[in-house]
Amino acid sequence: MPTALEELAVEASTCTRCALAAGRTQVVFGTGDPRADLLFVGEGPGAEEDRQGLPFVGRSGQLLDRLLLEEIGLTRDRVYIANVVKCRPPDNRDPLPVEIDACRPYLQRQLELIDPRVVVTLGKFAGQLLLESKVPITKLRGQAYRFGRAVLIPTVHPAYALRGGAEPMAHLRADFVRAKLALAESAPVPESDS
Ligand code: URA
Repeated sequence: MPTALEELAVEASTCTRCALAAGRTQVVFGTGDPRADLLFVGEGPGAEEDRQGLPFVGRSGQLLDRLLLEEIGLTRDRVYIANVVKCRPPDNRDPLPVEIDACRPYLQRQLELIDPRVVVTLGKFAGQLLLESKVPITKLRGQAYRFGRAVLIPTVHPAYALRGGAEPMAHLRADFVRAKLALAESAPVPESDS
């Protein structure tokens, strides 16, 4: 029997809810442990992700993997990695509001089904979407927010840290340390009987 998350991935694989469908090689649904305590949300697939069908497999992904190991002590198979939009925007442009809206139910359902204790948003689009905020990511980051049963930690996108020099990299690293602390502090919430 496929799990609900596997069924959702199958449904998403033929999605035509927005115009990004026309330009993709394949849908990049998400990867990792379906029962992960820690879930990352990026922006959308780039060229390499579109080719491989997996999120964060290019340069940004290498940085994500490195900081995940160095600051949190985990490998990517122990966490879940998803994106705001599941199909590659042409020429790596920003996803449009209409595309984000169309894709939103998939991310929403991934969050419900995986039910992580800590969510780390990478970059402006994921942070602003999940926090329902227009505040710049550089202002949102640096603290933890309640997000349903989980804690949400917004941080800058790894691609920005790779371009931006010492300060964004230090921020990204500090926010990963925040995620580690939040994981340690967040005792699992018991299931209710009702
Ligand atoms: N950047 C993202 O935001 N997501 C990916 O999957 C890859 C790069």
